[in-house]
Amino acid sequence: MIAEIIAAGSEMLTPFRQDTNSLYLTGELNTLGVSVAFKTIVGDNIAHLTGAAKVAIARADIVIFSGGLGPTEDDLTREAAAAALGITLRRDPEILTALYKRFAARRMIMPPNNAHQADVLEGATILENRNGSAPGQYLDTIIDGHRKIVILLPGPPKELKGLFEEACKPLLAANLPPRHLAKRLLRMALIPESQVDARTAPIYKEYSDIETTILAGSAEIQLHFLAAKPTLEEAEARVNELTARIEDEMDDAIFSSQGESLEEVVLLMLGMRHLTLATAESCTGGLLAQRLTAIAGSSRYFLGGAVVYSDNLKTIFADVPAETISTKGPVSAETAIALAEGIRSRTAASLGISITGIAGPGPGAPGPDADKPIGLVYIALADGQQTNVTELNLTGDRERIRWWASQHALELIRRHLLSAA
Ligand code: ATP
Repeated sequence: MIAEIIAAGSEMLTPFRQDTNSLYLTGELNTLGVSVAFKTIVGDNIAHLTGAAKVAIARADIVIFSGGLGPTEDDLTREAAAAALGITLRRDPEILTALYKRFAARRMIMPPNNAHQADVLEGATILENRNGSAPGQYLDTIIDGHRKIVILLPGPPKELKGLFEEACKPLLAANLPPRHLAKRLLRMALIPESQVDARTAPIYKEYSDIETTILAGSAEIQLHFLAAKPTLEEAEARVNELTARIEDEMDDAIFSSQGESLEEVVLLMLGMRHLTLATAESCTGGLLAQRLTAIAGSSRYFLGGAVVYSDNLKTIFADVPAETISTKGPVSAETAIALAEGIRSRTAASLGISITGIAGPGPGAPGPDADKPIGLVYIALADGQQTNVTELNLTGDRERIRWWASQHALELIRRHLLSAA
């Protein structure tokens, strides 16, 4: 079964308001085993809204309207849905009475326009709205020989959510074939999306019953799998089979298959090996430490670190020889190595990692770094026996360079711990 969501409201065609209701509804429909195939945003125009409603009713099994159920001239969803379905609206006396009572309770006289909120699609079930005046509507009908479910929900997110949760979802669950969902999220760092897709698409395309989404984020690719089956066992077995094949293909590139972040995985791996970590950061200014300490419980394996931005502090806090800095430059393999080794021995951590680079937009400091390019970053990892240094040439603005450097550092630690397993 596929669904279409129509968000009605001219405000969502401006730069100031976003249609967030459809995100919520999509998540909820997915849990019922329904995929959202289309989302449409339409302004408050009866011809446009009726046109969009006709298209949606023709191509989707379930059509959910959000908004346009208020009392004003531009609240046109009821009329548009009725016109698209070719049915009439009837004025419901119970809703009308409830509306009068609502106004009376506030010692107000109800304006005549509000009576429109009592107009109901012929044959629809009324869904009570505890948080507002416009009730929802639920119509399960046959159009041209096809079963169609048409649902009208109010626009304000609080009203829409309350009404969907309390009245609409139970109705849908009772009237749709039972579906159980299994989800999986595979995460990979630093690999280009095109490479992930080229390697995984031949596999996941064999699983047309699993919805696969690739999301590219900051130095990370996510593969989402969603299977809906009559039983949970079937859904999980199917997702597990696909996951195992993708894991085989991508091998160590996948850092988590249950949704954990890269920093969580690194901390988990440190914990499993009873190891500790300390950081010495220059161009990332503590970003790596911040990411690690954002994870609750990190103090057991992350001892701490130093933000050694100036040359002096590299020497004071991490024992980098002043001569290394003055001859090779603060952004150099030699300085990175000395930083990693220095912070490791100063803190007595199992592993010391350093990041030093030119994040831009200005060039490197006068001296040996003056002609080094923006985006040049060195990361060194010291384990007491050996120290490995990696040179990166990152692109983008300051924020991107700093983020990618921290991502590379975490990935280097993860790969080091994998090989030390
Ligand atoms: P009302 O009785 O308040 O008029 P309504 O059902 O007619 O309810 P709208 O007038 O369309 O709803 O929207 C009311 C407010 O709800 C909008 O100003 C907007 O802030 C919010 N809203 C409407 N639709 C959405 C949406 N799709 N996503 C997020 N917010 C929305």
